[in-house]
Formats: sequence, C-alpha cells, structure tokens
Amino acid sequence: KQARLPWIKTLEQFDFSFQPSIDHKIVRDLAGLSFVERGENVVLLGPPGVGKTHLAVALAVKAAEAGHRVLFMTLDRLVSTLMRSRQENRLDRQLQQLTYPKVLVLDEMGYLPMTREEASLFFRLINRRYERASTILTSNKSFMDWGEIFGDQVIATAILDRLLHHSTTLNIKGESYRLKDKRRAGLVT
Ligand code: ADP
Ligand code: MG
Repeated sequence: KQARLPWIKTLEQFDFSFQPSIDHKIVRDLAGLSFVERGENVVLLGPPGVGKTHLAVALAVKAAEAGHRVLFMTLDRLVSTLMRSRQENRLDRQLQQLTYPKVLVLDEMGYLPMTREEASLFFRLINRRYERASTILTSNKSFMDWGEIFGDQVIATAILDRLLHHSTTLNIKGESYRLKDKRRAGLVT
C-alpha cells in the first residue's frame, strides 16, 4: 500500500541513548503496532529537536510496512485543508477521506493558534477517527496549554477527551538533537 510520508525515518536510526527520558520499552511496544489494530492514539510532546517527528514518522513507516494506509500532514496543512473544503461545500467528503487512513500523523500542533472555527473542524476530525483509526500527534505544548492553542477551553477539553481516551503519551524531556553537534563545538550553550 502507498505510504504518504514526507521522508523516511526509521526506529533503527533513532539513538535512544541520546534521549534517556524516552522509555525504550514503550516505543518497542508501539512498534508492534497493536495500537494500530485497536485504533489507539499516540501523542508525542516535547521541545523542538528532541525527535518527535522522527518517532512519529518511524511508527508510520512500520505501519505502512505492515500494509496499513498511512498519511502524514502538518497540523497547519490539515486545518487549511479542512477550511477550504468547508468553503467549497465538501467538508463531509474531506472528513471521510481523512478518516480512511489507519494511521494519520499530525505534526506540529501548537506552533500556530487556531480560531474557534478551525478548532471545531479539528474536533470533528478527531471525533470521526475516535476508536476507528490511530492518530499520532506531535506538539511542543503540554496538555495544559491546549486551551490556548484552540482558543477555547471547552473545545480543548473535548479534543483531549477523545484523543487521550485510548492513547499513549510520550513526554520527551531533553536536548535538541539538531543542536548537539553545535553544542559540542561550543557554538551554543
Ligand atoms: P522534533 O520533531 O522533536 O522537533 P525531529 O524529529 O525533527 O525533532 O528531530 C530533528 C532531527 O534530529 C531529525 O533529523 C531527526 O532525525 C534527528 N534526531 C532527533 N533525535 C534523534 C535521536 N535520538 N537519534 C537520531 N536522530 C535524531
Ligand atoms: Mg518536528
């Protein structure tokens, strides 16, 4: 089956010794893909450069190799896709299409705040996928800050409720892998 990923990263390429806050066993369990069979979600939280996108893509690669349909989008791209389809009166069809992939990676939630309308469209998607298909979400914001992202605590709570009901959260605390060589060279502190 076709995998729609922007680039390929694998779990084998991931250096777990660099990021000790990640429980290796949890990632190994996820790589077994029972979360996909059960339509459960994965939330990867942490500051920039700690490997959130890498791990999200690597899990999607595993799922694609196992024959599941996967799709990768930035959250920004998802929101503009939903808004456009609403303007063009084909929101239902678009939501249906986005419910189809067994694994949907939504990358980079939290960099841009959403309007209420955008947040409610996002909620509709999460609600459709709930208990049917897995969503892997990455964010640089902790759950407490989600109210701010969605501009509305009620919608934020409803989204968190669906997303986290059956889910695994990895809270990655550590240094940016992007900066490690620069840091070593004394270019940043
Ligand atoms: P984030 O999404 O958390 O900002 P990325 O997943 O994009 O971070 O990681 C930044 C870069 O560093 C990517 O090229 C990624 O492959 C690499 N990287 C991050 N963490 C590791 C790691 N522990 N081992 C190997 N490569 C890593
Ligand atoms: Mg990223």
